[in-house]
Amino acid sequence: MDAALVQRTYSRKRQRQQTACQDSFGLAAHKMACQDSFEASAEAPPASCTTGLHLDLGQANFASSTCSVCGMMYCQGQESDEKLHAAFHSSHLQGIRFQGWQAERVVQRNALSGRVLLVLPRDPAAHQRKVREVSVFLEDELGLVPGWLLSVPVKVFLYVSLGRRVVGCAVTEAIATAFPAGVATRLMDAARCHCIAGYVVPRAELAFTNPTEAGCAFARAYSQGDDFLVYK
Ligand SMILES: [Zn+2]
Repeated sequence: MDAALVQRTYSRKRQRQQTACQDSFGLAAHKMACQDSFEASAEAPPASCTTGLHLDLGQANFASSTCSVCGMMYCQGQESDEKLHAAFHSSHLQGIRFQGWQAERVVQRNALSGRVLLVLPRDPAAHQRKVREVSVFLEDELGLVPGWLLSVPVKVFLYVSLGRRVVGCAVTEAIATAFPAGVATRLMDAARCHCIAGYVVPRAELAFTNPTEAGCAFARAYSQGDDFLVYK
């Protein structure tokens, strides 16, 4: 994923009041817990991380630090925290891991870059779980209210790279892009063709959700005009 974009969304996100209702994604929930303890402790960052994850009984003082790349606050030297951070960090840089499903609805395939899958609300629970994981990740990245992307039945398009990572996601009606332009363009093309049976949605009729700076640039370029619609 685009590191510059990730950094910007994170510096913005840290200003935001966090809530603790993202428990469907353990990593995000963990990060919230650390950030909550940070926000609750006035101005100065805590010298050690003492969230519910480990009890402070006078053992080694785990220094908390915030990764400048992925924005996660974690306790250095704490093995489980280091592992969580490593997984979270690579998700941010490379996308969420995805092993594939036996019955996939492939709507576009590119031998050099990957495939686009369509997931519908009636699809199996395992598919919904992956969609939830991706949407929690996106909501966190884009500063959206937790649960907002899937608050109504939606069609979800997942762009899966050859490296078995979800590197892009489009939610029809509410479209969120936080990905490199090539990925976003292919996703949008697939979404426009498969959103309404027998109708290709014109580019100018797409609406974008709370775009970031990079998102605005993409939306403008993709809509082929100076303005684009914003979904409210
Ligand atoms: Zn990191």
